[in-house]
Amino acid sequence: MITKDSIENLKNHLDVVDVVSQFLELKKSGANFKACCPFHGESTPSFVVSPAKQIYHCFGCGVGGDSIKFVMEYEKLSYPETIEKLASMYNVQLNYDNNNQPKQDLKILEDVNKFYQKLFVNNKVAKDYIHNRGISEFSIEKFEIGYAPSSMDTINFLKNNYYNLAQAKDLGVIDTGTNGLYARFIERITFPIYSLSGKIVGFGGRTITGHNAKYVNSPQTKVFNKSKLLYGYNIAKENIYKKNRIIITEGYLDVIMLHQAGFNTAVATLGTALTKEHLPLIRRGEPQVIVAYDGDGAGLNAAFKASVMLSQSEFDGGVVIFGEGKDPADMVNDGKIQELNSIFSNPKPFINYAIDYIIAKYDINNPSQKQKALLEANEYLKSLGIIYQDEYKRYIAQKLNIRENLVKVSSDVTRKTEVNLTKIDIAELCIIKAILENPKRLDSVLDIVDSSMFEFHRNEFELLLQDIDNQSLNGIVLNDKLETYDDQRLNNELIILLHKFYSKKLTSIKYDDKLNLKEKGIQLRKVQDALRQLKQGKLVSYNL
Ligand SMILES: [Zn+2]
Repeated sequence: MITKDSIENLKNHLDVVDVVSQFLELKKSGANFKACCPFHGESTPSFVVSPAKQIYHCFGCGVGGDSIKFVMEYEKLSYPETIEKLASMYNVQLNYDNNNQPKQDLKILEDVNKFYQKLFVNNKVAKDYIHNRGISEFSIEKFEIGYAPSSMDTINFLKNNYYNLAQAKDLGVIDTGTNGLYARFIERITFPIYSLSGKIVGFGGRTITGHNAKYVNSPQTKVFNKSKLLYGYNIAKENIYKKNRIIITEGYLDVIMLHQAGFNTAVATLGTALTKEHLPLIRRGEPQVIVAYDGDGAGLNAAFKASVMLSQSEFDGGVVIFGEGKDPADMVNDGKIQELNSIFSNPKPFINYAIDYIIAKYDINNPSQKQKALLEANEYLKSLGIIYQDEYKRYIAQKLNIRENLVKVSSDVTRKTEVNLTKIDIAELCIIKAILENPKRLDSVLDIVDSSMFEFHRNEFELLLQDIDNQSLNGIVLNDKLETYDDQRLNNELIILLHKFYSKKLTSIKYDDKLNLKEKGIQLRKVQDALRQLKQGKLVSYNL
């Protein structure tokens, strides 16, 4: 465990603006900084970073926190992983309580990778295969291509170097079978797979001895999640941000060859389809997404599923399909760089691809098939945002050669927009903001104000009383549209708030049938007295 002291020490080195700007482009906006939120899709910035409060907050989706929270969420790391990452970013020494340093774990994978790399250099079959695919020496080093030997050799390597075999098993390097220990990768070309924090977490391996499974990957482990990671992301990351584009392929060799040809934003899924779990990673930097798959049945279907998912999540981009026997790696090897360039520049937009795919399944010259095509296309259309529904209604009608009004759009969209129009009251929010900005004011306010005086923002005020540092209040502190009050102004605004409250109270007491005359008299006097004082500009204690 990392000691508390060293975490505190690290925190002293962190500045939220500096930390966030390592990942996002921040623009100065008044006392704060702004960016488009990396956690939800948006085109106008509502993500605010406050150097004074050392926090970030998104007005769009409500996320917020400090430097550490940001890196955790952004890099999808655990707390200790985040601390380690920040410590290495800022060159701060961390101390550990005991010897169970989590770092030790992944060291095995690094060492095994080096072992595989060394063996590759001396293995002619593996080298010939890689060279024949057109992969350069530079790429071999950059992607750390290796070779996994026989099962026995790997196990001996681990044993001879006194690695913890239980740990090696946990990390998917070896496993136990009926005949004892065996290596997960046997006589395969290996491709190390990196996590977002830049550590090796697993391998992909291609057989060179004709094993049935052409490709295998490390098993799912506590550090290796196939449906979340993308091969090559660690290398492509910077270019994805720079070029605002990510090319998602299905093969490790495709990634390597595309990078070699200058398409350095290419990544690949790890033998799985694209899943919802991949989306946060793909969303980073809001790149245009190009799904580049094979033209066989499986590839077309995978591209369809990806298109549906990405369009529903409103990703920008489209699909590129490689025709028979021509995968991107082959095209690079054949020197067809220009052709690739134009293919990647003209992807078929996700929605068009999905609709075309649906309609192509049916013979639309047959009326009953045409009806089915319409139903299925319409079903998909309704799952999209309202603007897209309107736009693509026409497209479906054209494709099926039918009248546009036969294509239905979803009706419950209007409801959604109404929900967003929850009432806010600027005056109430400004009072809350004034207290949050200067918590010392709370003492005097407590005596005067009751949460029932807040008509619209009672919850926020009560939260302020319970936990003034609560993150969900950051949206109020950082809201530039709310005026900043000095003491005098706060006083005046409180008088207005109280006056409104007591005036209403006066009416409600007058018409309250449950009170007897005596009680009514006492209460009326209290309220009238309060109103009189307020008129003289005096704040009154709450005693109802
Ligand atoms: Zn957001």
